[in-house]
This record gives sequence, C-alpha cells and structure tokens, in this order.
Amino acid sequence: MIKDNLTQVNSTIAEGVRLIAVSKTKPVEDLQEAYEAGQRLFGENKALEMRDKHQVLPKDIEWHFIGHLQTNKIKYIAEYVSLIHSIDSLNLLQAVNKEAIKHNRVIDCLLQFHVATEETKFGLDMAEAKALLDSPEYAQLHNVRIVGVMGMATNTPNRDLIRSEFRTLKSYAQELASTYFQGHPEFKEISMGMSGDYQIAMEEGSTLVRVGSAIFGARNYNIPVND
Ligand SMILES: *Cc1c(COP(=O)(O)O)cnc(C)c1O
Repeated sequence: MIKDNLTQVNSTIAEGVRLIAVSKTKPVEDLQEAYEAGQRLFGENKALEMRDKHQVLPKDIEWHFIGHLQTNKIKYIAEYVSLIHSIDSLNLLQAVNKEAIKHNRVIDCLLQFHVATEETKFGLDMAEAKALLDSPEYAQLHNVRIVGVMGMATNTPNRDLIRSEFRTLKSYAQELASTYFQGHPEFKEISMGMSGDYQIAMEEGSTLVRVGSAIFGARNYNIPVND
C-alpha cells in the first residue's frame, strides 16, 4: 500500500519539486517499504527517532529534520542530517553550528517563517529574520549554510487563505534572495506543502513538499516516541 501511495503521490509532483516522505511516528518497516519503492528522502520531527531510524536503515537515505529542534538534541542528528528545515532563532543556528564543527561539516538549514494565522506554529517573522541575518554572531557561523525558507499554512479548508500564506512565504524567499543572499545561488529552497495542501504549494513555487499521511496513512499519536 505504501508503494502504491508513493507511486500515486509521485505522479502528482511537479518538475523541479522534491518529495520528502514524512515518516514520523511510523515504524522502520514502513520506511523500508518506501525505500524499496525508490524513495531516498525522508523527513522526521524528533531527533531521537531520526537517530534510531538512521542507525538501521540504508546509508544513502537523505534525512531532513522538519520539526521543532531542541538545542540539546542536535547532537543526535548533526553527523548525517541533510537539511534542517526549522531554524527559528539565532541561538538554535549557533547551536547547530557548534555541533557541525564537531563533525567537520557544514549543515544546510532553512529559516522557518510563521505565515499561518494560528498562534501555535513556530517560526520567524521578517523583522526577526533580518535581525538574525544582520547580527555579528551570524557572520561568525561558518559551519551552517542557509539555503532557503520553510513554512506551514493554516490548517483550514479555506484554500484561498492557504494560497495567500504560501504566496507570503514565497515573497519572503524572493526578498531575502535579492538582498542578503545575492550571489548565493544555493539559497533557492522553499519548503512548503503537506498532504492536504502540497498541490497549492507547488503552484505557488514550492521546491520541497513534506508529505506524510498521503504516503504512510494516518498517524496514531498515542504510540509513544522517544522524545
Ligand atoms: C507531520 C508534518 C508534515 C506532514 O504532514 P501530513 O499532513 O501527514 O502530510 C509536514 N511538515 C511538518 C513540519 C510536519 O510536522
């Protein structure tokens, strides 16, 4: 069933967009099934869960961290994570830089913006992002590289609202690309879109869609996870 779902979802992915299979809460067997169907890009939102899955699954998987990241958990993912989508403070970026140094690598990161109307969602606003990028501390960070932005739309049936929030995120990406990241072609990723709204996200310029339940089925949050 995962294989069929993956085939179906893949048939809807626009050119130039990469599909992240969001496997949080799902057992390793489910990821293995997606892997055997050709999927190499997975998203997790808990550091210990990602570590446990990384340990047992094939090493050519690209791991994306998409959840709220606690500074004391970065050490569980720093060695191998391909992209951290959820940078929402200078403090977190500094902590990621520190762990990256230990592994002698540069970790790619996205700035997470708050574009939804819900107050619970994490993320920066434009003024906070600019303050971060203008800070002398940021200029000292050589083991992190910001390659784009991430955001989540409001959880709503209102498609127009979702579209306008994705447009806002895209406009932030464009503004940053033409100011702080001029001459940095690697700053090009726009991570937006989930199972319920990735079609709209792609129409509005997403380059990375994070799709969970449409591939793996509904999640059961009663299953305890490691952190
Ligand atoms: C869980 C999650 C997703 C995937 O959600 P689905 O609706 O299952 O596709 C995408 N992005 C983030 C940040 C998530 O936490």
